[in-house]
Amino acid sequence: MAKTIKVERGDITKYQVDAIVNAANTTLMGGGGVDGAIHRAAGPALYAACEKFHGCPTGEARITPGFQLPAKYIIHTPGPIWHGGEHGEADLLKNSYRNSLQLAEHYHCQTVAFPSISTGVYGFPVEQAAVIAIKTIREFLAASRWVQEVIMVAFDPKTEAAYQKAL
Ligand code: ADP
Repeated sequence: MAKTIKVERGDITKYQVDAIVNAANTTLMGGGGVDGAIHRAAGPALYAACEKFHGCPTGEARITPGFQLPAKYIIHTPGPIWHGGEHGEADLLKNSYRNSLQLAEHYHCQTVAFPSISTGVYGFPVEQAAVIAIKTIREFLAASRWVQEVIMVAFDPKTEAAYQKAL
């Protein structure tokens, strides 16, 4: 199977893939946006599983089961908060994608779906974020053994257009 990157519009909580990625915060205790949607759909067992991590630094990633989601695993990564672009935001965002993919690889995931990390409440400009995301995913896929397909799931048309353009 050839390795692929796709951009689609949709709700990531509905994806039946090996792993979906959650744009979490450093507490890993849930929040708004995609994080809230994932916690609502996965059920309270997710909260109990996340509690055991005692948080996660920005750019790192942690994995849990998918619980009530169609996805087998949820990979949680806190992306950077945008502070103008000169506080290491680009490197931290790259780390979020790379560390999430490394965990997916370790768990032998073939298909992985990402939301647009950091471009909601965290304020990272979506055009810049999309270029970083696509580049990091492409580099990773060139050397991966297990991960075959990565889907960028955009929630709105502007996000979808930015990732299509970056692709
Ligand atoms: P962050 O705090 O990392 O910025 P947000 O959840 O605020 O995270 O936003 C990240 C992106 O996820 C935004 O583009 C937002 O529109 C999108 N999003 C929100 N709900 C969903 C969902 N159910 N599926 C996919 N993407 C979603």
